[in-house]
Amino acid sequence: MKTLRIRILCPHLPIVQSLKTITLRVLSERNWPAPEFVSGPGATDLEWDLVSGIAAQGFRIENGTAGQIRIVASDPQGLVYGMGKFLRRTRMDNGELKLCPWRGTSLPRLSMRGIYFATHFHNFYQEAPLEKVEAYIEDLALQGFNALNVWFDMHHFKGIDDPAAQEMLTRLKALLRTARRVGMSAGIGFLANEGYRTTPAALRATPTGRAHYGVEVCVATPEGEALVLKNLQGELDAFREVGLDFIWLWPYDQGGCACPSCGPWGRKGMLKIGEKAARLFRDRFPGGKVIFSTWLFDYGNDQGEWNGLAKTFSPKPDWVDYLLADSHDRFPRFPLEHGVPGGLPLLNFPEISMYGMLPWGGFGANPLIQRFTNLWGEVAHLADGGFPYSEGIFEDLNKAAYAQFYWTGQNDCREAMEEYFEFQFGAVDFEACRRILDLLEANHGPCWMIGDMVRLWGSPTGGIPLPGYPEGSIRFPRPQADQARAIEAVALCRRVELSLPEWGRKSWRWRIIALRALLDLELLTHGDNPNEACQKAFLELQDIYSAEKGEAAVSPPVKGVNRIDDSANCE
Ligand SMILES: [Zn+2]
Repeated sequence: MKTLRIRILCPHLPIVQSLKTITLRVLSERNWPAPEFVSGPGATDLEWDLVSGIAAQGFRIENGTAGQIRIVASDPQGLVYGMGKFLRRTRMDNGELKLCPWRGTSLPRLSMRGIYFATHFHNFYQEAPLEKVEAYIEDLALQGFNALNVWFDMHHFKGIDDPAAQEMLTRLKALLRTARRVGMSAGIGFLANEGYRTTPAALRATPTGRAHYGVEVCVATPEGEALVLKNLQGELDAFREVGLDFIWLWPYDQGGCACPSCGPWGRKGMLKIGEKAARLFRDRFPGGKVIFSTWLFDYGNDQGEWNGLAKTFSPKPDWVDYLLADSHDRFPRFPLEHGVPGGLPLLNFPEISMYGMLPWGGFGANPLIQRFTNLWGEVAHLADGGFPYSEGIFEDLNKAAYAQFYWTGQNDCREAMEEYFEFQFGAVDFEACRRILDLLEANHGPCWMIGDMVRLWGSPTGGIPLPGYPEGSIRFPRPQADQARAIEAVALCRRVELSLPEWGRKSWRWRIIALRALLDLELLTHGDNPNEACQKAFLELQDIYSAEKGEAAVSPPVKGVNRIDDSANCE
């Protein structure tokens, strides 16, 4: 078949317009012929239709009576996910479109299949042209993600009327609007004691020993409480025109207060202000879901936070809908050993961006498929979804793994990986692709701190000076990295590349994999001294991430570029 003819049997649905736009874009990115949308009778290849009887957000791909394929669902989201499946399994073969051979019904097992975009340090989500980020949100929706969360990070701003705050709100609203347009729910994160950089000194929270901005609010006094609720209300009002479906109430990192009245935060201050914040949110957005985060509860030492929370949430409180749990390295033990406090549905918060590599995405793709398969395996039986933490597009493979984890509830993502290889860059040598990912994961790293990062983030031990970079720059040894693996990965990339169609070879999703393999090899061969080939790769990555203005943590380490870091700038 040369041209895909699509008949829309549910034209009244607003999602149809988005789905048409997405289909046009996805086909055009692959240099496949533009589809034709037909109305009225006549031959078609594909139909979109709403039918009854399919569980929420599920879909069915079936044969029609006239040789056409039908994607049917009982709600708009199901059509998006069905079209995602259809596209992932459709390919171009010798100039002919071979339409998706998969038939059957597919239902999502977990309810909250979210993603969190951090929009700071001038990363991709903050800086890339909006249409690029919007297209990326659409791509995630096709994979089954059904919720997008963003954060309006108050500590950067003097107040809600600060022009910089308004600029950020405009950006965040645009992202959430896109999410809603493609059927995702939209939400915001909020520190349970979040404050602007202008928080009066007398109302500032006591640092908790975890990361702290210094401008969080102590909620021990009525004035402190009132300030937090005023901050939240201003933000909720700003998002009213977009609509919010959920809020995260967040404890730490940054956040919290360790004064005698508020601490331990997780079982005292956070619960007191959290309930008030939740009720304020529900009042503004009736039906909105409240997600109570326990990130870093009892981190480092047991302060009775999990235990205290379990007591307070027994019986289940009426102001919380989900409990979110996770931690930097391993999943917290309490919910695994004692069950989820309040019997609430559990969400995880896997860190798919920063783990063991710095700058984040600075050396290309960071596939950690085995790591996440293991981590998810530990919580899959308890979780009702989650929100991977994302700093950019370099961990797109990790997102694809989680898309399948959340869809099936199982800890197996082989199908998602194979669909990814073929759909995203036209690779059919799955074995070689899988091996490349394994090799990159085994050689995970490097870790470099460029310029001011050491001063701002603290000086870890064991750093080795990085010549040719701004003063203070260091790298960390990575004894686990192995040159033989790097050689094999580069050779396999060459082999795969030979069979890729031109659009696939040039696609950013392939390029960040190939560049990572190349950088691993060049750096391991040259004692971690970047040569011309590395510099060229860094520049290409910078371009892919729109990282010209990015801070050091989220930008490739292009030599000769001194990146500004204002992340720790508070009054
Ligand atoms: Zn306090």
